[in-house]
Amino acid sequence: MISIKNKIEHHLLDYEKVQASFSWDTIARELSGLPDGKGLNISHEAIDCHAHSPLKDTVAFRFIRKDRNFQDFTYAELQKQTSKFANVLQNLGVQKGERVFSLAGRIPELYTTALGTLKYTAVFCPLFSVFGPEPVFQRLSRGDASVLMTTSALFDKTIKQILERLPLLRYIIISDITEHVSEKILSFSKLIEQAKDNFVIPKTNPEDAALLHFTSGTTGMPKGVLHVHQAVLTHYITGKYVLDFHEGDRYWCTADPGWVTGTSYGIIAPLVNGVTCIVDEEEFDAARWYSILEEHKVNIWYTAPTAIRRLMRMEIKPCIEYNLENLRLILSVGEPLHAEAVIWGEENFGIPILDNWWQTETGGIMIANYPSMKVKPGSMGKPLPGVEIAIAAINDKQLKLITEPNVQGHLVLKKRFPSLFRGYLHENERYNKCFIGDWYLSGDLAKKDTDGYFWFISRADDIIKTSGHMVGPFEVESSLMRHPAVAEAAVIGKPEPTIGELVKAFVVLKTGKEPNEETKMDIMGFARKEMGPAVAPKEIEFVESIPKTRSGKILRRLLKARELGLPEGDISTLEQS
Ligand code: ATP
Ligand code: MG
Repeated sequence: MISIKNKIEHHLLDYEKVQASFSWDTIARELSGLPDGKGLNISHEAIDCHAHSPLKDTVAFRFIRKDRNFQDFTYAELQKQTSKFANVLQNLGVQKGERVFSLAGRIPELYTTALGTLKYTAVFCPLFSVFGPEPVFQRLSRGDASVLMTTSALFDKTIKQILERLPLLRYIIISDITEHVSEKILSFSKLIEQAKDNFVIPKTNPEDAALLHFTSGTTGMPKGVLHVHQAVLTHYITGKYVLDFHEGDRYWCTADPGWVTGTSYGIIAPLVNGVTCIVDEEEFDAARWYSILEEHKVNIWYTAPTAIRRLMRMEIKPCIEYNLENLRLILSVGEPLHAEAVIWGEENFGIPILDNWWQTETGGIMIANYPSMKVKPGSMGKPLPGVEIAIAAINDKQLKLITEPNVQGHLVLKKRFPSLFRGYLHENERYNKCFIGDWYLSGDLAKKDTDGYFWFISRADDIIKTSGHMVGPFEVESSLMRHPAVAEAAVIGKPEPTIGELVKAFVVLKTGKEPNEETKMDIMGFARKEMGPAVAPKEIEFVESIPKTRSGKILRRLLKARELGLPEGDISTLEQS
């Protein structure tokens, strides 16, 4: 166990105490300042309530351009911009609950669109800007999009060719043209220029629809996940307890704005807690990232295992080559974080990397290594106060909680907490299948230790059954990555008549390592010694790269389909390298 540098007094110093007295109603009253805690509007809590407070001149967003110049927006400025956008929607005759999509990189207009839409009580839905025309079409049509905000480059590349097939799409607002093109294709700046900068937020009910996010599509066809305005309560407390936001903090979330982390933690949680968000327009670049941490004096940094693995492979020694004295917390989400990565953080930044677990469906962080607690490298941490999380055995649609520690089972969450999804778009049956009684089935397998820490095993779909053993690919991948030649690994089960499934590993070698028989045998021998012959891979294939989703998750189902010569399924979220 390692403790975090205790530079300031962290929130949630006494986890057990907070958990024992936790009530969502109290949190709702605390956040809204109202006796009944009702009427929370995400955008109001994120911006308007700060715009007339001492925080009004604090920078809400700092946008770093490709050339490293940056532009700041204060909370007061953001309030005006987003009110203007809400008025734009009103002027266009958009109705409450209609869906407003974005297809853009990290540009200021995207953030204005998101928060202006929420203010207006329409539903915001972000898309990855790198999607091709077909995945964009699928999502816009499945999501009944009324309005789309995009850039002229993406309009030409992606939207033009699908426009005819989207009769419900009434308006396309383009961020970088100065004049309207037609009644349907409009200029963002012109609309904003003509709109009033004050807007009275309509009465918002806790259960009013707010957000639609499509899942990463790691296990199949992406699902459209619906969230409501009261989800902001989860964003508020996770911001406080997990991300440890304090006034004056500079925070950087590297997630793409096209998936849920980009919204929940790239926009809502930090603003609700009144901190400054750093937004970098560029994609991953190790040297650039380290210098942003240094130059912008980032205090809290939220990133993902895929980026951390890439940084670990580099020769750069961040703590020697950069002045990162302001960096207080590093957090990770999206995939399991190997224990080695947690320790690498400790060695290279003086702080361990804090893993946390959640899903598009949970809307916010659910299990976390809190800054105030001991970190167990390789563990996801403990449940968020206010959310009951357990391990269960599921047989014949019957659920039985497992109370014994260290026993593997399904990770289940008791409904219902503010940010739990309220539906899969147009897929009621799929939604209903996620619940047994009061429990939401996450689809992941995990175990809980005697101290109450949760450990990720695998996605239920990825588990490998070999010679009577249940093997989680993550466990095998973690072990392989301890071999000095291995940069990355992905493990699948390959059907085999005698043992059920055979463990097969796809391995990316570190630069300079030879992909020959000798290296293969050495890695196999190492794995056998570490894990035992029953679990160690029986086959290893060297590959140049491992297929991942745009949100950085290993696509094991694609490796398996390719291995077996089966159809690839939905690969709209596949990252093209
Ligand atoms: P789909 O549901 O379409 O298959 P997805 O599950 O990858 O895609 P997301 O909602 O983006 O879509 O990801 C949530 C999943 O990511 C979790 O269910 C879990 O499997 C994995 N995950 C997220 N964080 C962690 C973590 N800290 N440790 C282990 N797994 C994690
Ligand atoms: Mg999922």
